[in-house]
Formats: sequence, C-alpha cells, structure tokens
Amino acid sequence: MKQNLISKNKLTKNQTLVLNVLLKAGLPLSAYSILEKLRKHGFKAPLQVYRALEKLIDTGQVHRIESKNAFIACEHSLCEISQMTAFTICQRCEKVSEVMDEELSNYVNLRAEKLGISTTKTNIEFHGLCNRCLSS
Ligand SMILES: [Zn+2]
Ligand SMILES: [Zn+2]
Repeated sequence: MKQNLISKNKLTKNQTLVLNVLLKAGLPLSAYSILEKLRKHGFKAPLQVYRALEKLIDTGQVHRIESKNAFIACEHSLCEISQMTAFTICQRCEKVSEVMDEELSNYVNLRAEKLGISTTKTNIEFHGLCNRCLSS
C-alpha cells in the first residue's frame, strides 16, 4: 500500500494524462482512443500511450480488460496491487464494473495452489446481461 502511494506521486506527466483520460471516461478505452484524446497534449504515437499504461497497470491504477483489449481506471482508490482482477461485462450496454471480492480472490488462489501453479496474474471476466438490461 505504501509503495502504491509513493509510485502514485511519482507519475510522469504522460502517465497522469493517460490516467485522467481513463478516470474521466469511466469505461474501458482502447489505446487508440486514449491516443486520440491526448493528441492535443502532444501525444503522437501509440507507444507513448502504451508506456504510460504499462506503469499504471504495474501500480494497479489501471487494469486491462483482456477480452476487449481495452483499459479501465481502477474503481477503487485503495485497490491494492492485486494479482487477481475481475470484471462484469454487460453484452448489451457494455457496462464494465470492477469486482472486488476477497472471497473470490481467496478461492482462486486456493484452486491455483491445488492445480500446482503459483499465479502471478489472474483475470476473470463475467460476460452477460446486467440487471438493468435484464429488466428492460
Ligand atoms: Zn482495481
Ligand atoms: Zn447492461
């Protein structure tokens, strides 16, 4: 946690710009959309976005939605750098929510141990219809 705070303070200008775009968007964005939004700030190449994202992912401030090849700002200001990320993804309205479920995380770790793998990263995506879409 302490480390996380320190690295937050050490964000470069580009990292801060990328993080702010994602925070403002509140939904997953592709690297290309991030680049488009930052052109006026002097971003020219996808590599600049990817470099910034790499660091933000490392510090747990941004997560990657694997199935969408997109990036989302962490919804939890106190989200620790977790080896497990989980998201619910609505197939109709495309709403993506981050899941914070310690029980799930513990269970996944337990199963991984049983499977004989020491995990460094697990990503779980629940695809389906959100309650709102289901009732409309
Ligand atoms: Zn998070
Ligand atoms: Zn929905």
